[in-house]
Amino acid sequence: MRLEGKITIITGSGSGIGRSSALLFAQEGAEVVIVDRDVDKGKETAVEIESAGGRAVFIKADVTDLDSVRTMVEEVITRFGRIDVLFNNAGISGIGMLHEIEPDDWDRIMSVNVKGVYLPSKYVVPHMMKAKLGSIINMSSCIAEIGLARRASYAATKGAVLALTKSMQVDYAAYNIRVNAILPGTIFTPFVEDYLSKSDDPEAAIALLKSRQLSGDLGRPEDVARAALFLASDESKFMMGSPLYIDGGATFGKNA
Ligand code: NAD
Repeated sequence: MRLEGKITIITGSGSGIGRSSALLFAQEGAEVVIVDRDVDKGKETAVEIESAGGRAVFIKADVTDLDSVRTMVEEVITRFGRIDVLFNNAGISGIGMLHEIEPDDWDRIMSVNVKGVYLPSKYVVPHMMKAKLGSIINMSSCIAEIGLARRASYAATKGAVLALTKSMQVDYAAYNIRVNAILPGTIFTPFVEDYLSKSDDPEAAIALLKSRQLSGDLGRPEDVARAALFLASDESKFMMGSPLYIDGGATFGKNA
């Protein structure tokens, strides 16, 4: 029970890594607030947690929308009185070299992946500052460090999240708030399944994904959820402003 009684918000927890983290956090005793713009998927995660004996509540919110995020945070505070953990996980992918990206697509990915970290943090942080306690986990990607072909907009967003994490940590350390980032490699979630389904040759696409890392397996949502659990829990109390790589050796192994 590494998160016993902790009030945790996980954005984008209707699917993939967020969903897996919500299930694990609940198993470890947390009260999990499932946040997603997709009502069906968000409710599904909450029901799954409750039927396994855990505690969860679903609140619909779009992380790019100020009113929606502010209302969600107010609802959590009214219900629980505090927020111990914020996992800014919601994100979308973007494909293309810079010159191929349309301005609307650029704005959309920046909005979900960067503003979608800024807004929930903006409304949660004051409560953590008051309590002088909190752990914020921001979802970056190892692409922020090593780049990847045809992912210019996505890489830009994840680099921004990493820089934001470090800067937030400097500002909020005095309030006993820790801010760390997770940098996954390729994780087999609907996010990646969608990309594979659009590929002409999915087998070759999987082989290509594997060739970018040292591990022969693709990462699983549970692999990232366990890292998030560590950062959410007091076990990581000496980690501040750190990037945590969960990438099967993609970042350092391949570049060594
Ligand atoms: P996913 O598509 O399976 O899940 C993302 C969830 O976020 C969905 O439930 C979706 O409804 C929700 N969401 C999207 N936009 C939202 C918004 N504006 N407001 C609220 N909810 C929103 O994706 P995933 O693979 O689990 O990815 C989760 C995070 O991990 C993303 O930030 C992604 O960039 C990052 N990541 C994923 C991988 C990977 O290989 N899967 C690798 C590195 C980083």
